[in-house]
Amino acid sequence: MKLVFATNNLNKLAEVQKMLPASIELLSLKDINCFDDIEETAATLEGNAQIKANHITKKFGYNCFADDTGLEVNALNGAPGVYSARYAGEPANTENNMQKLLSDLKNTSNRKAQFRTSICLNLDGEQLLFNGICKGEILKSKQGEQGFGYDPIFKPEGYMKSFAEMTSEEKNAISHRGRAIQKLVEYLNSIV
Ligand code: IMP
Repeated sequence: MKLVFATNNLNKLAEVQKMLPASIELLSLKDINCFDDIEETAATLEGNAQIKANHITKKFGYNCFADDTGLEVNALNGAPGVYSARYAGEPANTENNMQKLLSDLKNTSNRKAQFRTSICLNLDGEQLLFNGICKGEILKSKQGEQGFGYDPIFKPEGYMKSFAEMTSEEKNAISHRGRAIQKLVEYLNSIV
C-alpha cells in the first residue's frame, strides 16, 4: 500500500518508513508532485492536521497522514499552541519566538508546558486522529544547541536537560512527535 506522509522533510519520512512493515510504501509530497501551499487556517492542531490530510486525499486520491505540533504553556492558557511557528509574528523566526515566550513568562513562576502533536490519518475512507504529548517546563534561558524551534528552552519532565541538549535519538524516544508516530505505527502494523 502506498501512503503519503504530508511532509517534505525526508529525515522524518525515512524515520517513519523504518518503523513500518515493508508492505507500506511512504511517499512524500514531492513524490506525488504536490507543491501546493496548504494554508493551516484551523484553530486547533487537529484541525490543521485534518486540513493537510484532506487536501491530499481529495486532490490526489491517496491514503495520507499529516501532523501538526504546538507548544502549550499552562500560564498562557495553552498559547502559543497552534500559533507556535509564528508566535512573534511573520515571517516566522525561531529566535524571536523564544524571546517572546521568555519575556511573556518573565514574572511567572508556573513554567509548566507541553508539546503536543496531532496526526490525522485518512485511510480507505476512514479518518483517525492520534495525539502525542510531552510534558515539561519552560526554562528561564536557552540551553543547548541541538534540535530546532523551542528546543533550547524546553526541559522535558524527569530530565535535567533541555531538548536541545539531547541527541535526536534521545529526544525522539520521549517527544510528542515520537509518541504520536508510535501510536500511528502501532495502528498501521495492526491492520496490515
Ligand atoms: P510543525 O507543526 O511541526 O511545523 O510545528 C510548528 C511549530 O512548533 C514549529 O515551527 C516549531 O516552532 C514548534 N515545534 C514543533 N515541534 C517542535 C519540537 O520538537 N521542538 C521545538 N519546537 C517544535
